[in-house]
Amino acid sequence: MQLEGRPKFDGPSVRRLLSEVYGLEGEVEALPGERDLNVRVRVDGGRDGVLKISNGQEDESLLEGEQRLFEHLAMAPASLRSLCPGLRKTLAGESRTTYRGENGQEHWVRLVDFLPGRPLATVEGPKEALLHDLGRALGRLQVATSDFHHRAYERSIPWDLSQGRRVVEERRELLQGAVATSVGAWLELYDRFVAPRFGDLPRAWIHNDANDHNVLVDSERGRIVGLIDFGDALVGPRIAELAVGAAYGILDAPEPLDALEAITSGFHAERPLFRDEIETLYGLVGMRLCMSAAIAAEQVRARPQDPYLSVSQGAIERTLPRLLERPYPQGTSAVLAACDPGTGFVPRDVESTREVASRRERTIGPSVRLTYEEPLHVERAWSRWLFSPTGERFLDAYNNVPHVGHGHPRVAAAVARQMRRLCTNTRYHYRSLGLYAERLLATFPGSLDRCFLLSSASEANELALRLARTATGHRDIVVMEGAYHGHTTTLIDISPYKHGGPGGEGAPSWVGVVRQPDLYRGPHREGNPEAVENYLGDVDRALGRMEGEGRRPAAFLAETCPSVGGQHILPRGYLAGVYDRIRAAGGLCIADEVQTGLGRMGDAFYAFVEHGVVPDIVVLGKPIGNGHPLAAVITTRAIAEAFDTGMEFFATFGGNTVACEAGLAVLDVLEEEDLQVRAARVGDRLVSGFRELAERHPAIGDVRGRGLFLGVELVLDRDRRDPATDLASRVKNGMRSRGVLIGTDGLDDNVLKVRPPMPFDRGDAGTLLDTLDEVLTQASSGSLE
Ligand code: PMP
Repeated sequence: MQLEGRPKFDGPSVRRLLSEVYGLEGEVEALPGERDLNVRVRVDGGRDGVLKISNGQEDESLLEGEQRLFEHLAMAPASLRSLCPGLRKTLAGESRTTYRGENGQEHWVRLVDFLPGRPLATVEGPKEALLHDLGRALGRLQVATSDFHHRAYERSIPWDLSQGRRVVEERRELLQGAVATSVGAWLELYDRFVAPRFGDLPRAWIHNDANDHNVLVDSERGRIVGLIDFGDALVGPRIAELAVGAAYGILDAPEPLDALEAITSGFHAERPLFRDEIETLYGLVGMRLCMSAAIAAEQVRARPQDPYLSVSQGAIERTLPRLLERPYPQGTSAVLAACDPGTGFVPRDVESTREVASRRERTIGPSVRLTYEEPLHVERAWSRWLFSPTGERFLDAYNNVPHVGHGHPRVAAAVARQMRRLCTNTRYHYRSLGLYAERLLATFPGSLDRCFLLSSASEANELALRLARTATGHRDIVVMEGAYHGHTTTLIDISPYKHGGPGGEGAPSWVGVVRQPDLYRGPHREGNPEAVENYLGDVDRALGRMEGEGRRPAAFLAETCPSVGGQHILPRGYLAGVYDRIRAAGGLCIADEVQTGLGRMGDAFYAFVEHGVVPDIVVLGKPIGNGHPLAAVITTRAIAEAFDTGMEFFATFGGNTVACEAGLAVLDVLEEEDLQVRAARVGDRLVSGFRELAERHPAIGDVRGRGLFLGVELVLDRDRRDPATDLASRVKNGMRSRGVLIGTDGLDDNVLKVRPPMPFDRGDAGTLLDTLDEVLTQASSGSLE
């Protein structure tokens, strides 16, 4: 509704109103305001107030909404209540009333508390501590209003950040000079980084105008003491509350990103941010400044004399170019830094990579290796990105440990909460142990109904071997060539990748190694109808050797999709054939699903499902705790009972209270974010993209995998299929230097390994494919170092 400007009352008529409606006497003084007439009232012998007089045609439901809001806030915890003005009653006991002015027009009238303090905008110098406190206040407000709703706030006003893009676009021609250029540049960043994620942002009631004139501070105590002017409140993206506060908080700050970090860390401490919020915040901060510039330009044109309209414009014109000077990802890095409770907002001295590397060299055993010719120095990560201390961003298409994404706030919060509450082990009862086991077992076929929890996949594979040996009374183990199952003494013995590689001492007599059924480069290839049978013959031979020496297998232990072996998908019928043979020889079948479990394959939660087999024991590791050490052995009741020989099984950290919370949070996030389905979709996109690249790049011999478990095998010649090991290494390093992380694996280390955190999306897939295209093109022209 277009209203006729602000209501007009002179001093005597305001005093008369006060006396008639509230029974108060005092001095009055008009305050700045855009829409209402706001009058400060110095009440004789009482608390000061602000009289708010609105146009009588103002939407009544909004006034009712505001009244409900103040009533809601009156019930909030004291630390928040004291920051928000309370609503005073009229002599008739009403929270608002109508009043007829001199000119005969009706007006709405409310009286709220006057809050002490000076506007944050008037504070000189660094304000980080105050901004941190403001972040906390806004976070507390958000928590306290999370259950507040009034339909009047479902409204559309120009200050709605959801509409920001359109609001700015519609007024763009009013902007001139440098500010027009800055706004244009920011819109481009916004379209790239924020717009695709905007739809997913959670929404709720927000104050929506924590600008530095509406935030009151006690500068001596360095505290925020008031938040005023609820006139722009609406239901909008919850993150907009912080974005607005931050937008004005960074204006003319000596270091805008430190200011952003300060306010964000305060907010996050009270109301943890969600993934999409973290990724969009910086873009929204800039967008709010663009909106302010655009709306002010329009208002100034309409009311050139009103100084209130352009209070922030000079600072915006100075600050936007400063934000644009640095690479955009640094802004998101600052937000990430703020969400790390360990570091808070205190600006840190970044140690140089050289110092970090040299300390490592002086202290860590030399067999602990780094990846990439130019190793990565990263100090934080988010979702599928890793960040260097200087804000360089790397797209992570390789690390599977942060399964639901690096630094997922839900998992981090669950772990932190439980660390404070209780850390103990399976020798005591606690709820989360059985709960997690139950949730995990529910993802398996019914016969797999017992679970042991441990802290690493190595521990889990060790236990799996013990279970198999105890249950069968046999000792021998059959494994696949190129396999890796862990770093302990026994597991090196059963990992040909280690005992058959540099420094290895070969397989011990109790280990039978069978060929990897590689249909692309192995001895029996696709197109040969006997290929699977031939590979199974290898298993028969291994079992035959064992039997000839008077022994039988305790187990066949293999990854359902060999990963270190080269990202293979086992041919149909192979696994079922092996399981039949091993079981017939008296052994058990162990599936190492460390790499493939929890939805990574897209079409199934575990890779064995797609082979129509049910293992006797399944081993899970790394990804199930999203970085928190957690691993599991899943088995049948019969095997678990056979293992109960009288000897207690106890692993101090296995299934501890914190680990169980991490595991539960991971399962929750997988479900909530529908990550398995996403993995299937993005995986399809990647496979078809790799196949398209293969049409142009003859080095791509084979593309394989499903979901987010993928391999691209590089060869020197498509007919001979000789491994392009050196090229694979150069491609991996070339990708790294262009900001995309992949690995290499395979018996000849010539398979590009793509195995990203599960939130990897289609846009990321596009980045990966484009970069690979570029790197392969350079490699073929000889210009790739
Ligand atoms: N099994 C497989 C298939 C693995 O890939 C790994 C680790 N790469 C392990 C077991 C051992 O895991 P951890 O290092 O956590 O003990």
